Amino acid sequence: MNAVAPNGSPALVDVTIIGGGPCGLFAAFYAGLRGMSVRIIDSLPELGGQLMALYPEKFVYDMPGFPQVYAKDLAKALIEQGTQFHPELALEQTATSLTKTDEGYVLGTAKGDEFPTKTVIISAGAGAFSPTKIGVAREDDLVGKGVYYGVKDKATFAGKKLLIVGGGDSAFDWCLNLCDVAESISLVHRRDVFKAHEDSIEKVKAMGTPMKLWYVIKELHGDDKLTGVTLENTQTKETEYVDCDAVVVNIGFKSSLGPIKEWGLEIEKNQIKVDSKYETNLEGVFAVGDVCTFGSKLKLIATGVGEAATAVCFAKTRLDPSAKLFPGHSSDLELSK
Ligand SMILES: Cc1cc2nc3c(=O)[nH]c(=O)nc-3n(C[C@H](O)[C@H](O)[C@H](O)COP(=O)(O)OP(=O)(O)OC[C@H]3O[C@@H](n4cnc5c(N)ncnc54)[C@H](O)[C@@H]3O)c2cc1C
Repeated sequence: MNAVAPNGSPALVDVTIIGGGPCGLFAAFYAGLRGMSVRIIDSLPELGGQLMALYPEKFVYDMPGFPQVYAKDLAKALIEQGTQFHPELALEQTATSLTKTDEGYVLGTAKGDEFPTKTVIISAGAGAFSPTKIGVAREDDLVGKGVYYGVKDKATFAGKKLLIVGGGDSAFDWCLNLCDVAESISLVHRRDVFKAHEDSIEKVKAMGTPMKLWYVIKELHGDDKLTGVTLENTQTKETEYVDCDAVVVNIGFKSSLGPIKEWGLEIEKNQIKVDSKYETNLEGVFAVGDVCTFGSKLKLIATGVGEAATAVCFAKTRLDPSAKLFPGHSSDLELSK
């Protein structure tokens, strides 16, 4: 639920966090702990950053206190912790502009929304993620009308003849998760080797899911909505028409710092330069996690979340000079569950 000002526009918050990956989520938690009002903006429909978008089924071994944890489980715990103070979530919103105001900044998004904020923490990783497209004619016209890059609501696929494109974890997870609602599911993959977890591959095979291996989508058919596709065999170049109502494309994500590079920030090798407070050359704008750079930078979650906590404390004292930089220990607090 977005916080709104009396005039109906988004409210001014203490801090806006660009990027809901591990570092942004920890920043949201820490800012909440420090009594700050928080907004998280992310271009993706779900929180979790790279953990969810790139390697949900991989084990992570270097989280303090967790000898091994699936990336998706780590993301789930970070999301629970990061949203416990109810930050405003602006998902599927890509921050494209940063304008200085008397109160701080206004962040503009690709959808044309404007979010006022006193301070900004950029935890944008390698930049805004967007799904890799199939790359065929009329693809953009049919987005949401039969072409999908993720699943927001399983009901969308109820009774549909569905093609799932890809050979990774997302493709196999959706074969398993949509089989109870779709009329039929076939998997289309450009090779015969999969990157998905072995267990998911075995389950999908055991269900008898038809697999079109060595095939890609060559054409999309249908005027107002998808009615079928032409598949092409990548080896023989033979084509065939397949009747279907929906295609879920899971062939990865692209990321780009994009417009952030135009905000007047000092950039070095695609990363934002910060000082020891994790503040950038723009006052009140901090950068943490993979997106920032400094002398001893390591691109790790364990170090990035520490950067987030430090940046939040400096943002706090910037807004309230009487506040202590060191907030005390969380174990001294009583947080209601
Ligand atoms: C395969 C793989 C395995 C890894 N294994 C490990 C490991 O074992 N241990 C470890 O410590 N690290 C690991 N990493 C690295 C780790 O995932 C990253 O260091 C971490 O995700 C960085 O977190 P972050 O919050 O800085 O950014 P990210 O996780 O990249 O999140 C950034 C978020 O910002 C959003 N965003 C960016 N720009 C905008 C914008 N303009 N507007 C709106 N939203 C925007 C993106 O959509 C994204 O959701 C691994 C990485 C990969 C790819």
